[in-house]
This record gives sequence, structure tokens and C-alpha cells, in this order.
Amino acid sequence: MMVLTKKMIEIRSILQQVGQSESLTLPAIVVIGSQSSGKSSVLEAIVGHEFLPKGSNMVTRRPIELTLVNTPESKDEYGEFPDLGLRRITDFTSIQRTLTELNMAVPDTEAISDDPIHLTVYSPNVPDLSLIDLPGYIQVVGHNQPLELKQKITDLCDKYIQPPNVILAISAADVDLANSTALRASRRVDPRGERTIGVITKMDLVDPRRGASILNDKQYPLRLGYVGVVSKAPQSQGLFKMGSMDLLSTIVKQENAFFSSHPLEFGADAGVDVGTMTLRKKLMHTLEQTMSASLASTSDAIKQELEEATYEFKVQYNDRPLSAESYLAESLDAFKHSFKQFSEAFGRPQMQELLKEELDQKVLDLLALRYWNKPIDGLAPGRPDLDSIADLPRASPDSLYWRRQLDASTSALTKLGVGRLATSVVASAIQAQIERLVAKSSFSSHPFAREAILDATSTILNERYYSTSDQVENCIKPYKFDIDMDDREWAHGREHVQTVLKKELKDCESAMSNLEASAGGRKKLKEVMAFVDKARKGDIVVEGDGRSGAGGFSAALLTRGREAVFHRDRADILKMRLMAVKSKQCASLKNKYYCPEVFLDAAASKLAATAVLFLNVELLSEFYYNFPRELDLRLGRHMSDNEIERFAKEDPKIRQHLEVIRRKELLELVLDKMESLKQLESRERERRGLV
Ligand code: GDP
Repeated sequence: MMVLTKKMIEIRSILQQVGQSESLTLPAIVVIGSQSSGKSSVLEAIVGHEFLPKGSNMVTRRPIELTLVNTPESKDEYGEFPDLGLRRITDFTSIQRTLTELNMAVPDTEAISDDPIHLTVYSPNVPDLSLIDLPGYIQVVGHNQPLELKQKITDLCDKYIQPPNVILAISAADVDLANSTALRASRRVDPRGERTIGVITKMDLVDPRRGASILNDKQYPLRLGYVGVVSKAPQSQGLFKMGSMDLLSTIVKQENAFFSSHPLEFGADAGVDVGTMTLRKKLMHTLEQTMSASLASTSDAIKQELEEATYEFKVQYNDRPLSAESYLAESLDAFKHSFKQFSEAFGRPQMQELLKEELDQKVLDLLALRYWNKPIDGLAPGRPDLDSIADLPRASPDSLYWRRQLDASTSALTKLGVGRLATSVVASAIQAQIERLVAKSSFSSHPFAREAILDATSTILNERYYSTSDQVENCIKPYKFDIDMDDREWAHGREHVQTVLKKELKDCESAMSNLEASAGGRKKLKEVMAFVDKARKGDIVVEGDGRSGAGGFSAALLTRGREAVFHRDRADILKMRLMAVKSKQCASLKNKYYCPEVFLDAAASKLAATAVLFLNVELLSEFYYNFPRELDLRLGRHMSDNEIERFAKEDPKIRQHLEVIRRKELLELVLDKMESLKQLESRERERRGLV
């Protein structure tokens, strides 16, 4: 018949995983007793190991739901904390340590927590039982304990001693039964004494006659009766803790010696139950009876719960199956798909455009530095040549000065580190695009996956970075000595640089209007600009360091004035150069010294086109090949089941979906097991009937 209990305990454990409502469980034996009544000693004698937290400072602060599983076919003894994922702990001292830590984690100010600790012990020497150990009742509250502690303990115990649970009420023989808090509590919820087993500990401490009379108590009669025990553990022997058989057999021996020396009071004819072995048998028998009796109602509750879960699954999730693995696989597929789309849309032309834009900026900087930095109006006194940009169209075609300017600018452009620049521009573009893809994908709500993807991106790009920039640098090397250009390239440069200059002009104008707004209007800005112009020409002297303001303008206003003057001058030059570029003179490559803007633009285009050839092979194709493989590795094969589960549950919507499915599956499993249990039970009954 014991196999039934085992099955029922198994069902009980599965129901624990389902969580949810409190009615959805099978009964257990709830152990209550005052502090020091010998509660721990009794439990440890049953398990055969010292494993419960010890100490004076309220060491049991949470309920311990203890499941004992008899394993006759194996010698191994071990414990497991399923909630913590701690498996096969063979050292019971370590179980004791874990229990102590879990209990002590409840802060002193709270002292008690409702949240149960689940512990399962597997051993050939334990009976199949499910026991719940609760904090011991206290008489007085300690000075660092909350005042309401007594009440809290009572409330917690009351919650557990409700039907159909069996109550194991522990009282010490040396305390008057009328004062037993455990029995008083049990009478409140089980007034007729139908589901309470009385355990009287410390039988060795009272006169045998008195002991026997306690066990025969008539004042608090219990249908399941009282059992007297002497379960004090012998002192641990040195470093070695006893094995379960040793602890139990020592206690049993000790009890036998004690009880058999008082045959009159405790002998077979005395009609009292004594000894830990008797208690174990009584517990097994009672639990089996109680669990069997609850089977029908629990199975109804499960059916109802299952109906609800099925309904929720249908209505909210459209019966859509989902598992953590399938969710990950789907998310990964979708992400790879979006990546594929990106890779089809981002190739050589797009890279070239990006790089050209970057080089356009560099060209503008070079032009500003070498050409546009001279005052427009007239020659500086004493200068022999026409070297202001305004004079350029009129300069001699053989002017050494303007030739040198263009050669130096071209050289600066080709030597600015195009290899690194091009590689960085493309790498950052890829990185930014991947970030965008992640943000739009279902990975956006998964920090772990997000990190893994971004890390994969930068790892691949970094690995290729130096070799790519070297290769690009190498391939543009010839341009450092000579740039060979044809008419078509010139024409294209002439066309394109106009767009660049116009955009630059627009930027200047919008910077001007921003300054106007922040300076308090166009008029005000004009005033301060006039002041700056005068100061620049040396007509007036600006005193101080310029930070404190001058000419009745604040320092901040003067700064804006200077900026505005800069933009105005730059806009003037830009307009002038736009005219020049459009002029007939700049239509021909022959006049390249007159038209540095066109030449540098065409040169930059050649650099970009060449660089892109190598970027494509060295960086982009490599990335497109390696990235999906790296994703598979990091988000597929390298993740453990637990990681995949944790990953999927990071998304609350997915977590709920998975929870419903899990609950449904567990309930179906339990119901299945219950059905076969019922069959087993009726067959057993038939067999008994036949015997
Ligand atoms: P708990 O606080 O209810 O868990 O009580 P313990 O099991 O820790 O026991 C309290 C004290 O009583 C300990 O010092 C035990 O050694 C002692 N004790 C427990 N059972 C017996 C017993 O049957 N006989 C004697 N003499 N002492 C016992």
C-alpha cells in the first residue's frame, strides 16, 4: 500500500510547482510545538540525520516543507532544494548550513516569513512522508524581536494546521499538558481531536508512571492517540556525524532500553504507544489515509484549475504553442531575417556615399585652412603676389604660390589616414544599424541577448579593423604621388561640389538665424557684429580679456557677435566660390589651380571609390558572413536550458504565456497520475477484498 503514498507525495510535489491556489494540494503533516519542546529532535530522528538549524536566536523563521522519499533500490542519501536548483547534496551538514542561511536571511525586524523552503530528502532509510516544520511557539518575546512576534508565529501555524492537514502536536513530558501550546492550537482547529497526533517528548525526564498517564490522557483525547518518545540525539562523535541508520538506531536502542526497563508502564499490555519507530509507522499510515481521503476533492480542484488554464490559453494566446526554445529560435530567425534585409540594402554604393560625405567634410576643412582664410578685400601690404582667394581668378596660370597650395592640399587629403577613417566610418555605420535592428526586434526587451548581439558585432568588426585599414591605406597609396583625372571625373566633381558648397552655405545661414534668435533679434546682432568688425580692424580697443564684455555688450553677446561675423564672412566666401565653380574658367580640368574645390572633390571621390573596393572585401563581406554564425553560437548552441528559460522569461508577455502553458501541462500531468492512482487504489481494494 505504501506505493500509494509515494505516488501521492509525488503528485503533491508537482502541485507545489504549479503554485497558485492553496486548495490545490494534498495534505501533509504539520509539525507544531513550543520552542525547546523537542520538535527538531523528533524530526531528525525520523529523517535519521541532524539537518535542522540549531541555535537560540529563533533559527526557524520560515516554514520548511520537507518531502521524504524512500528509495529502497539505492544506498545514496541526499537532499535537494528544488527552488534553488541545488541537487544531490549528500552532506547533511551542508543542508543544515543552507537551511540556516535561508532562515537567517529573514531580517530580525520581520523575524517570520510565510514563504516556505522546499527540501526533499531521498534515502533508503526514510519513510515516504511530507512534513511541514514550523517556527516553534514562544512564551516571551526577546528584547530584539518585534512585539507582535508571538502573534505572527501563531498566525503562521494557524494557516498550516487547517484541514485536511494532519497535525503533529509536540509537547514535552516535563511540562503540564494543560500548558502545551501545541495542543491548545490544535484544539482550536480540530476540537474533536480527529486529525491530531500527540507526541510526548522527553519521556526520560519524568517518572514512568506519570509518563504513562500522560499517554493515556483523557482530558485531551485524540483519535489518533499519543506517542511517547525519547529522541534526544547522542552527542556527535568528534568530526564524524552519524549516518542515518546510526542516529535512528542509536535513538531506537536508547528508547528500547528505557521503555523496556518499565514494562508495567510501557510494556505490550500497558496499551500505550511508545518509540520513534511506532511514531514513524503511525505517521505513514495516517498520511496515507488522509491523502487518499483528499484525492477526490483535490482531483476536482485540479480539473477546475485545468479548465481555467485551458480557457486562458485559448482566449489570451489563441492556443498558440510556445516554449522557451521555440521563442528563442523564432526571435533569432526574425532577427537574422531583418539582418539579411539590411545586408541586401547596404553595399558598395551605400558605403561609398557614407565615405564620400565624410571626405567632403575633410575637403571643406582643407579649403578653409588653405584658401578661405585670407581677408577678401585686397592685398595685404607688401605682398608681391595675388594670394587672396578673391584674387585667385586673376592670378597668373604659372603662379607658383597657387600651384603649391593645390599640391599641398591634395597631399593633405591623401595623407589624412583614409584607411582608418574609411574603416571607422563603415564599422560605426554597421554598429549603429545593428543597434537599430536590435531595438526593433523582440530582443529589445532582453538585456542578455542585446548584449550578446552587440558584443558579437564589435568583436567581428574589431578583429578586422586593423588589417582592413592597412589594406585600404595601401591601395590608395598611388594617389599620394599623383592623381590622374579625366574630364568626366572633373565634370562630376564640379557638379557635386556645388551641392556641398550650397549645403555649407545653408548651414551658415541657419547658424546665423539661430544666433539672431539667441542674441535677441537681428538688430541687436547687427549692432554687436558692427562692434566686433570695428574692433577687428583696430578702430577701437577692446579692453580686458574679452570675457567680461565691452562696448556695452555682455561677454556672452560678444561671443555670439564673433560667431556671427565668422559665419557671415564664410558665407561671403562660399557665395563667391560657388560663382567661381560655376564660371567658365572652372569648366575645364586644365584650370585646376583656379578651381581647388572641384579638384579636391573629384580627388575625394576617387579615394572613396578605391577604398570601398577593399572595404567591401575585407570588412563588409566578412561581417555579413560571420555575424549570423556568431549569433547562432552565442544565442543558440552556447546557451544552457536554464539560460534559454531565463532569457525567454525576461519578456513579461512571454513569461505569462509560458507560465500558462507550463501550468496547463503540469496539471494535465498531475491529473493523469491521479487517474492511474485511482485505478491502483481500487485494484488494491479488490485484492484486499479477495484476501
Ligand atoms: P525544539 O526547540 O522544539 O526543536 O527542541 P530541540 O529538539 O532542539 O530540543 C530542545 C532540547 O531538549 C535539546 O537540548 C534536546 O537535546 C533536548 N531533548 C530533546 N528531546 C529530548 C528527550 O527525549 N529527552 C531529553 N532528556 N532531552 C531531550
